[in-house]
Amino acid sequence: MIQEMFPVGPFQCNCTILGDEESGEAIVIDPGEQADDILKRLEGLGLKPRYLLHTHAHLDHVTGARKIKEATGAEILLHKGDQWLYENLAMQAALFGFQVQEPLPVDKYVKEGDTVVVGKLGGDIFHTPGHTPGSICFRLESDGHQLFTGDTLFQGSIGRTDLWGGSFPDIIESIKKKLLVLPGDTRVTTGHGEMTTIDEERVTNPFLKS
Ligand SMILES: [Zn+2]
Ligand SMILES: [Zn+2]
Repeated sequence: MIQEMFPVGPFQCNCTILGDEESGEAIVIDPGEQADDILKRLEGLGLKPRYLLHTHAHLDHVTGARKIKEATGAEILLHKGDQWLYENLAMQAALFGFQVQEPLPVDKYVKEGDTVVVGKLGGDIFHTPGHTPGSICFRLESDGHQLFTGDTLFQGSIGRTDLWGGSFPDIIESIKKKLLVLPGDTRVTTGHGEMTTIDEERVTNPFLKS
């Protein structure tokens, strides 16, 4: 498996390329910005993106998708609970003083239990509402347990719940019921900032005590 993670855009969203050497196909998680850089990296790795998987529809996680899809035909994946946020990308951007192009239509809605697979590489979707209603986490099965949490879980923190459709009780329930029950050594790539593990967050995250 090929794996590259790098922060993109003014909000430094962690974008990850997961590539399957055999098929030459890739899943790109949260192509939030810098579409040209992401395309260049994919080309450098010899990969063609098949899926653009979005952990949620906040602008810093989706804005790069249009250009990558136009260039490669990759499919845009999102949970339906965030469709309205996705449709209102321009409104989100305006709030932060940015202008963005309208997003392209979602190709496929992902839901709890769905799998996303390219070649020998694949994982499943957890629906983890709270940061947004349609927030998801992606658990990669290849190469040991690895989890991509978007803005649901951070190292030592959790996603904010004061934006559109956010819910503090929901995010706490999502994390406790669906994430903390995973093997402790599961490596976690968060939506912003450092990587962590399930054990580290179980023991040290102040939001998850009690
Ligand atoms: Zn977010
Ligand atoms: Zn974010």
